[in-house]
Amino acid sequence: MGDFNNGAVKAAIIGGEYVMTDSVVEVINPSTGGVLATTADCGPAEIQLAVDAARSTQKKWRRVAQVERIRLVREVGRLILRDLEDLASAESLQTGKPIAQGRRDIEITARYFDFYASVAESFYGSSFSLTDSIEVTTRFEPHGVTAHIIPWNYPMQILGRSLAPALVTGNCAVVKPAEEAPLTALMLAALVREAGLPDGAVNVVTGMGETAGAALSASPGIDHMSFTGSVEVGRLIGRAAAESLIPVTLELGGKSPNIVFPDADLDKAIPVIANSILQNGGQTCSAGSRLLVHASVHDEVVNRLAAHFAAVRVGPALSDPDLGPLISQMQRQRVLGFIDLGRDEAKVLSGGRSLSGGTFQEGFFVEPTLIDDVPQGSRLYQEEVFGPVLAVTRFESTEEAVELANATDYGLVAGVWTANISTAHQMVRDVVSGQVFVNTYGASGGVELPFGGFKKSGFGREKGVEGIRGFVQVKTAIVAS
Ligand code: ADP
Repeated sequence: MGDFNNGAVKAAIIGGEYVMTDSVVEVINPSTGGVLATTADCGPAEIQLAVDAARSTQKKWRRVAQVERIRLVREVGRLILRDLEDLASAESLQTGKPIAQGRRDIEITARYFDFYASVAESFYGSSFSLTDSIEVTTRFEPHGVTAHIIPWNYPMQILGRSLAPALVTGNCAVVKPAEEAPLTALMLAALVREAGLPDGAVNVVTGMGETAGAALSASPGIDHMSFTGSVEVGRLIGRAAAESLIPVTLELGGKSPNIVFPDADLDKAIPVIANSILQNGGQTCSAGSRLLVHASVHDEVVNRLAAHFAAVRVGPALSDPDLGPLISQMQRQRVLGFIDLGRDEAKVLSGGRSLSGGTFQEGFFVEPTLIDDVPQGSRLYQEEVFGPVLAVTRFESTEEAVELANATDYGLVAGVWTANISTAHQMVRDVVSGQVFVNTYGASGGVELPFGGFKKSGFGREKGVEGIRGFVQVKTAIVAS
């Protein structure tokens, strides 16, 4: 796990050089409240250096043979797996996620590099004869410099899903990790160099969102942006992209429902629904944070969920609990505020308290919390809580289920639980959401599954074979003989 526990100082990585700043940003261990490390507090000068480094490297990188780029990107994936334990520990320490989840995240990150290396193997343009004397070919060309602004909840996975397709198609990157969890991005940049990609192919500028992030998004030297984070910041990023007239992918979270019909297989559904809100402490864009349940099975479902929640082991990240801490004290206060709202406007059935002392030390722990009869008008129904808080609402008919499912500003993921094929098809058709799962749930695992939002959950798609398209432009050559 490197030297993070000793409060190490970690520099930004720009053009293959370590760059430190006078002021620093502290990275807090959410399991203890202690300082894990300090990182560079990059500002406009460092951003400029990083963008310039990416720009000059990209001129060479784009001309490296595709087969060689594929080999190098695949090698990054291999090195990630070689260092799995170190990366997983660092990921878990900085985010508070249970170490088993940390390992899973690193495996998925490695798979992005392997997967997009494979996708690139057969990612070609087309060729056709327009007339007897005119031949047309289309080529996929890189944008140039891609900016990756990354949140703290899945720092490695979310970076991997945009960085791997960007690099393999010939772009060079400037990465702004979240100030709360920047350590693994720095480790990844070192592995990218070790794999043999040129210095400057991946630059990591640590620092605050309002300074480093804002300077990167406004830089005239970037050609594409990938952003995952909040709606508010997504708006700012979208504005910056409009100003520079560059393409942008925005993944802005959700308020995703699991929808349980009377004929659902509850033995299968209950653990998956519980996991969909408890995984990563509910700090997942695609968390199943709403439960819409048919009135006829409501009591059974909530009782079984309450029993499941009561058995959850809460603890520090490296003790491999079921549920770790939230990312920060601020986030815990926010989550507790939503739970208070639940006490006023609905019924808190289980959990609801913050935990401290003993093994919890000064960490940011909150019990898994089940809140019943949450009305559609409540902020708890409408807003992303980003905590282990499940809002339950009952419905009487399929039409009402659709209406309730679509009654928020978001549209990222939905889960449908039914044995009836017609109900399943109807829900897939009518629920406004980037992904709809039937009798399963989980967006993070499958790198093959195109992912992205409808409505305020954002636009653009990452992941899957489709995900590579966002990182290239089509050039058409029309050649007359
Ligand atoms: P979260 O709610 O997950 O913290 P944010 O949207 O606040 O999400 O942050 C996601 C990423 O965006 C982080 O890397 C953060 O530093 C960055 N960020 C925050 N504010 C800005 C901003 N004004 N401009 C650019 N990036 C920002």
